[in-house]
Amino acid sequence: MGFLDIRNVTKSYGQLEVLHRVDISVEEGEFLVLVGPSGCGKSTLLGMIAGLEGISSGEIAIKDRVINGVHPSKRNIAMVFQSYALYPNMTVGQNITFGLEMHGVPKPERDKALLDVAKLLQIDHLTDRKPGQLSGGQRQRVAMGRALVRDPDVFLFDEPLSNLDAKLRVDMRTEIKKLHAKLKRTIVYVTHDQIEAMTLSTRIAVMNKGYIQQLGTPKEIYDTPANVFVATFMGSPA
Ligand code: ADP
Ligand code: MG
Repeated sequence: MGFLDIRNVTKSYGQLEVLHRVDISVEEGEFLVLVGPSGCGKSTLLGMIAGLEGISSGEIAIKDRVINGVHPSKRNIAMVFQSYALYPNMTVGQNITFGLEMHGVPKPERDKALLDVAKLLQIDHLTDRKPGQLSGGQRQRVAMGRALVRDPDVFLFDEPLSNLDAKLRVDMRTEIKKLHAKLKRTIVYVTHDQIEAMTLSTRIAVMNKGYIQQLGTPKEIYDTPANVFVATFMGSPA
């Protein structure tokens, strides 16, 4: 039993099965990266963990409690999207604490949580601005702040850096790695970028066409790719 268990999970849309018997056990504090080409099922798998997508068969459990059918807001999971999904008419501070307000957290506690998270992400000078007045990197920090402030069991990231330019992408990658080292939270992170997978993860699940092709540490994946697809996609030596 791991911290987050994906047990024999299958997903179909109508007649079409897009994920086939996925089995992954994620340990507490692990940084698991799901990597694979576009359309291989990464977002679908993440969506099932978050509860945004139904599970066709199998089960997903956190701390051995099966969460199939548990409402997304009751899963204690936070998700960061590529598109940021910030509220344009709210300030940065309101964007970050809105979820807490919804859960009835009193204002003094919300203010304290905002201060802590904003400092951690180095956006404490931006809390009164609106998202439209921020750069792409700053917006991504706000989106991360909104996830962090809820103190979730599991963080899900769906290609969070894809909209950023190359330089910022590398900076934010370093930032996310530091955050993980500091907070030691359990993360499942989706990307199609091999370098991102190799540098961020404690383990990588390489996916293709709805199958997990290989699950292992970056070193295992690189040194002993399980098949030609993994070797080619991850750029291992032939
Ligand atoms: P990835 O995130 O790896 O790019 P997705 O999880 O978005 O891949 O998609 C996996 C497969 O499922 C794709 O073939 C996609 O077309 C299909 N798919 C995703 N969402 C739906 C949907 N709502 N209805 C039908 N097919 C879908
Ligand atoms: Mg996707």
